[in-house]
Order: sequence, then structure tokens, then C-alpha cells
Amino acid sequence: MQHQTVMDISSSYQKLIGITRKVADIGTAIAVLQWDKEVGMPTKGIPFRSQQIATLSGMAHELSVSPAVGELIEMLHAQDNLLTPEEARNVSLMKLNYDRYSKLSESFVMRRSVACSKAYHQWVQARAANDFSIFKDALAEIVTIKQEEAATIGFEAHPYDELLNEFEPDYTSRQLDELFAGVKVKLVDFVRQIRTKAQVDNSFLHQFFPKQTQWDFSNYLLQKLGYDVDAGRQDWSRHPFTISFSPQDVRVTTRVDEQYLGNLLWSSIHECGHALYEQGLPTTHYGQPLGRPISLGIHESQSRLWENNVGRSLSFWKGHYQQLKTTFPTQLSQVGLNDFYKGINLVAPTLIRTEADELHYHFHIMIRYELEKPLSKAHWQLTIWKLLGMNAT
Ligand SMILES: [Zn+2]
Repeated sequence: MQHQTVMDISSSYQKLIGITRKVADIGTAIAVLQWDKEVGMPTKGIPFRSQQIATLSGMAHELSVSPAVGELIEMLHAQDNLLTPEEARNVSLMKLNYDRYSKLSESFVMRRSVACSKAYHQWVQARAANDFSIFKDALAEIVTIKQEEAATIGFEAHPYDELLNEFEPDYTSRQLDELFAGVKVKLVDFVRQIRTKAQVDNSFLHQFFPKQTQWDFSNYLLQKLGYDVDAGRQDWSRHPFTISFSPQDVRVTTRVDEQYLGNLLWSSIHECGHALYEQGLPTTHYGQPLGRPISLGIHESQSRLWENNVGRSLSFWKGHYQQLKTTFPTQLSQVGLNDFYKGINLVAPTLIRTEADELHYHFHIMIRYELEKPLSKAHWQLTIWKLLGMNAT
């Protein structure tokens, strides 16, 4: 290889960062379209919106895996001793992504994008109608596409490892098997012990709490937890989520159940935890690996830290329970702080992950993993229909 001067290396790095920024800008435009799709778009807009997102996803992919990008990454990686430690880390993470994603074609990326948009819409319909058959075919299509993705990129021990890579870099299903086996043994026993004791009363959470007043309290919570309202906003959605367009524009959503206050309280605190992490990422690395969340596990650790360690603690409510009582004077007039604290920590199973208590939440993750792992392999249809107790039709 021709000898490169420090100046050549610096200009090549800047060139690479310039392309990375363009890819990030397209990615952000996709995120805005997705946010709008889930927050306020009319149903009729779905087919064209899916197409728009797919087109932009294809463009971002083509730009990020172009041969020019590959050459820049290779050259910089080979001489990363001439880069700063931060630049070298960026390049090394970019290389990992390039090596994986350059194996996927633009048409595959677009097909995957359309399938995900379609599936989301059908999931919404299936959920409203409480009818899995509406979502079944869309889910089957996604499973097939993800299997194809793992096979195209390649894997060593298990196809699930490759799919996991996107969310938990370098973690394997073998490690997860070991981790969950240990957690499960202790947790099952712990939950059983709790369930044999007298249960706390949380019936005060199951009353009528007007939507608008819940919304106002949610905004109070966001502000108190340190969410920068000038760098984000909150909206309603069917499934609470956080989405970032940059650290200076991180949106959260929440949902309300007028018959159950807990739904909104912990969704809001949970999403606020995600948002605080995103708002805290360095703007100087916008669009670069160093400016992005390191893994989904770390992301979730932030949301759950706020939700459980803070949002279900006595210390937190010592500071905020009076405000909650003032907001809902009729509903909470007879509930003291200690009873409130005990009630919000009730341990009881639920079918909905986002409403799960601190302990049962882990089971949702483990069950999800136990469903997903076999799905990543061939003959998955038989496996999932068996797991769901349905006929393989
Ligand atoms: Zn979360």
C-alpha cells in the first residue's frame, strides 16, 4: 500500500465522516416518517408511507456500503495508528458494520423495510381486534426475511447470534442461554416465595383517572426527571416508544388507560429513561458509531433504572406524591404515601410486558428469547405454531 501522510489520513477520515453524516441524515428522515406513522398519520397513508420509508432505507444502505466507503474504511483501519483513539474506534466500528451489511443488497433492504411497515400495521389491527390471525402472515414473512438475513451475512454457531449482533454486539445465544438459566432458577423461586405471602393492595390504581389530567402529570414527571423539553416532545401512541433524530430532538410517546393509572406512570418514566440516554449522547459524534447507543441492553438498563430503581422507590415518591395527590384529590384522598409505595410494587404476572412489575418483566424477555431463538432456524413454522398451540397452516 502506498505510504499515507498524516494529512492524507486526516482528509480521508473527514471524507468518510462526511458520507457517514449523509447516511445519518437519511436515517433521521426515515425516523421522522416512522414517528409520524405511529403518532398521527391517517390509516390511508400507510401504503405510500411504507414505500417512502423503503426507498430512503435503500438509498441509505447503498450509500453506506458503496465501494468508495469500503476503500476508505480499509485504508484508515490499516493505518489507525495515525488516527486519534476516538477516530480509530469510530473506524473500527464502521468496519464491523460495513463487513456485515455490505453483504445485503439494496433490494433486500427495501423488501425488509416494506415487510416491517406492513407487519406493524397488521399488528395494530390484530391487537385492536384481539385476533392473532390478522398478524400471522406478516409475522411469518418477517421471520423468513430475518432468516435470510442471517444466512446472507453468515454466522458461526447459531443464526440467532447474527441477528443478536445488531442489538448486542458480540453477545451470543450461548451466553444468553447461560445467563437466563441462572436468572430463571433464582427468579422462579423468588416469585413463588412472594406469591405465598399476603399481597399488597393496589386497587387505588384501578379507578377512573381522566386522560387529560394523566397527560398533565406525565409532563410534570418528564420535567422533574430532567428531560429537556426544548430538545424533544411527548405524544400519544399505541405502544410507548422513544425515537431520536439527534441528541437535540428526542421524542417520547406514552399511552393511557383511564381505568388504570400505572400504565401511564411507568411508561412515561421508562421512556424518559431512554430519552435521557439519547439526549446525553455527544452531538459532536452525530451519525458516527461513537454518537450512537452502544447496545440495546445498555439502553434498556437506563429506562429500567429510572422506571424501577427511581420510579418505584419511596424516596422518589416522598418528593412527588403530594403533587400526584393534588392532581387526583378524589382518587387518592384515602391513600397514604406508604400504602401507595407498597401498592406500586405489587408482584403479579401480566401478559403485557410494558405493564409488568420489576420481577415479571424478566420473564417476558426470557420467553421472548425462547420464542425467537428457534424461529431464527429452519423449520421455524412448525416450532412457532407448536409453541402457540396452533395448526401449521
Ligand atoms: Zn424500553
